Amino acid sequence: MNKKFSLSMVIGVLILLISVFSIKSIYLTAKPIVDTAQVHIEQDRATLEGIIHNTGGKNITHYGFRWGTSQGLDQEETLTGTINANKPFSTTIKGLREGATYYYRAFAVNAKGTAYGDIKSFTVPVKYNAPPVVSITSPGDNLIITQGEVVEIAASATDDKKVKAMELYINNTSKKKADNGLLNYNWDTSAVNPGKYVLKATADDGVKTDEKTITLTVKEDLKKVNQVVVNTSAISKIAAAPTKTVSTPSRGVNHTNNSKYPKLSKYNGLFGQFYYRDTSGGRIEIDPQWIAENIVTIKLPGINRYVQVHKEAKDNFIQAFTYIQNGTATINGKRVSLLSLVKTMDGTFVPRHVNWNPSKGLSNHSWGTAIDINAANHFRYVNPAREPNDPNYILWIKAFKPAGFSWGNSYSDSMHYEVIK
Ligand SMILES: [Zn+2]
Repeated sequence: MNKKFSLSMVIGVLILLISVFSIKSIYLTAKPIVDTAQVHIEQDRATLEGIIHNTGGKNITHYGFRWGTSQGLDQEETLTGTINANKPFSTTIKGLREGATYYYRAFAVNAKGTAYGDIKSFTVPVKYNAPPVVSITSPGDNLIITQGEVVEIAASATDDKKVKAMELYINNTSKKKADNGLLNYNWDTSAVNPGKYVLKATADDGVKTDEKTITLTVKEDLKKVNQVVVNTSAISKIAAAPTKTVSTPSRGVNHTNNSKYPKLSKYNGLFGQFYYRDTSGGRIEIDPQWIAENIVTIKLPGINRYVQVHKEAKDNFIQAFTYIQNGTATINGKRVSLLSLVKTMDGTFVPRHVNWNPSKGLSNHSWGTAIDINAANHFRYVNPAREPNDPNYILWIKAFKPAGFSWGNSYSDSMHYEVIK
């Protein structure tokens, strides 16, 4: 009996307990209570926040956000793991578009079902996008080069965001691309035609673009042309050889040996042109036949020195030094002879390049048409207004100008006087 009673007690307690739990689970538990909280937007991403105020007396199995660009909220971010009441949770959504409006709501799920917070929205701000700024750092605008030179082209671009692409065009033909703000290109002009070229650099930040252009002139390579001329005349000479006539090329050029004097000078007015070859230190050696036919030795009056000049300039030199021999000038109230103003005299017939620099053209001294006076202090510009007593200025006015010379002062070479014909 006692044993039976005990069993009844146990069963009764079990039934009671089951009933209590059942009642609790039916009547005392509920869906969670969840709120949609704030959003933090940074560039193309947004961090959504939610908070579970009440778990509903059951474990939260999962929670998160539904979101999308419409209130249909077609995207879902689901979080799992233990979450306690009144602790905010968050997730970050990425790849959002500037200017677009997004909707979102928090949710939480327990055994009783899914609960939602309110639908909220936000709009991704549109940031001001400045266009890129391109500059061509090399070469400078309006550069003139000789065919065959390599032009180092450098361009750069900056942007408030990021330069995504650069491109270089020469006469609208793409030459080089870059995927950042630096672009370099070495342009070999040996195969390009002489003429004017437009160099254009562009930059793109994905939304806006910028471009800069400069122009560049490619000159014909005269050395190449000269070689062609030499070759042509060599052929004509061979062709003419059997008749044994001495060919007289145009513009008074005479030459004896093409292979020894392969280069042809420019044509210098009445003084003609000649074949020559480069030697050392910027000097040249001129076809001796041309020298024999054109260069003469004269005695300069006054200073009584023998110099070599072009036969067509001879009279001008004698005229100028006759003025110097006989003329006077008044300096600071004192009368002086022009001859006393000539301290040194250099360079009448001197076959050489300008400034003795082989990369420059030929000096007119190579034709025996120029003379340098008082070189020491006159490789410069003389300002006649400020230096009216400068000897080279006085010699220019009183001797060289009336004798048909020009003065190198205009290109800062006030020692240099030269016959132009
Ligand atoms: Zn000179």
